[in-house]
Amino acid sequence: MIPWLTAAQSKREQLIAWRRDFHRHPELAYAEERTASIVAAHLERLGYRVRTGVGRTGVVGVLEGARPGPVVMVRFDMDALPITEETGAEYASTIPGRMHACGHDGHVAMGMGLAELLTEIRDRMAGAVKLVFQPAEEGGNGAEAMIRDGVLEDPRPDVFLAAHLWADRPVGSVDVTPGPVMAAAERWVCTVHGQGGHGALPHQTVDPIVAAAHMVCALQTVVSRNVSPLETAVVTVGAIHGGDAFNVIPAQVEMSGTIRTYEPSAREVAIRRVREVLEGVAGAFGARAEVTIVSLTPAVINDPKVTSVVRQAAEAILGPERVTSGERTMGSEDAAFFLRQVPGCYFFVGAANPARGLGAPHHNPRFDFDEEAMEIGLAVLAQAIGLYLL
Ligand SMILES: [Zn+2]
Ligand SMILES: [Zn+2]
Repeated sequence: MIPWLTAAQSKREQLIAWRRDFHRHPELAYAEERTASIVAAHLERLGYRVRTGVGRTGVVGVLEGARPGPVVMVRFDMDALPITEETGAEYASTIPGRMHACGHDGHVAMGMGLAELLTEIRDRMAGAVKLVFQPAEEGGNGAEAMIRDGVLEDPRPDVFLAAHLWADRPVGSVDVTPGPVMAAAERWVCTVHGQGGHGALPHQTVDPIVAAAHMVCALQTVVSRNVSPLETAVVTVGAIHGGDAFNVIPAQVEMSGTIRTYEPSAREVAIRRVREVLEGVAGAFGARAEVTIVSLTPAVINDPKVTSVVRQAAEAILGPERVTSGERTMGSEDAAFFLRQVPGCYFFVGAANPARGLGAPHHNPRFDFDEEAMEIGLAVLAQAIGLYLL
């Protein structure tokens, strides 16, 4: 077996240089052109079969082994966020209003490092590796766009792997959890139609603000009274807008929010009840609720078999005491679209180091991670690929 951690550590300078370059030049969803061209040139130089423009700005590199065998796909997301960086780092974003505040710069660097390491085992590989650099993870459903462009064909993957650098866990640890790890997400939008009028003559109006206030309170019962207490769900009201003047009752109120669940049964109940509560409570006040619920992503559900292989790989790299299980979040992630079609494992690579001031949460203007985490993530991925192909 190859000592992957040592191999990954030997790439330290290079990983950091790549990561900091991407960090200085963040690109938003579907605009990852600079990033994609650096990745594509790197993969071509290494002898990968490369496809660009997959899902608009995505890049796919395939490395065929010497003998036939399974195809392992590994996903790395490339996009940054519309945030102005406040880390003060020497390698901070050069573009105001754009920042790699989720660690995807590190993911791309890990992917490039992995691409390089795997060429060393190509002659012994039975099967193939498919490295997928995905656009628009942050709300743009880049995974779906890549699937529409055939990323799951030629060759069809048998196993899916993805890792996320994780600010909630210390560097030097990895969390590998079977079953659901990230939630299915819906966006709901509701317009409450009332009848406007004078703030001093409420009896001549249908007040959508009072109706909306009751609707917000009643929505809290969807999780507490409708979803099974043994299942997990979140219903959030994220925006509420209505009215312009202190003495006017407006004609309408706009609300929006999100629903997060793991189990399909909870998802079905929550979607149905959010609609019923919004429409029913509005109706009780003589108002009318116009409700739209859009499903964004399914839940990220890890396959038990693949997860146990990744756990075995992580334990080989870090020792069992530094591999945990149980990290789950109600955040969502479009890797779910891949996992719905290919059995796989999405795991978390601890990246926080509070002693060095590296512990701000994801999507925060002060987000940054311990760059050593890239070596660990890379080594675990290489080890897992080795378990399938060597
Ligand atoms: Zn993110
Ligand atoms: Zn992310």
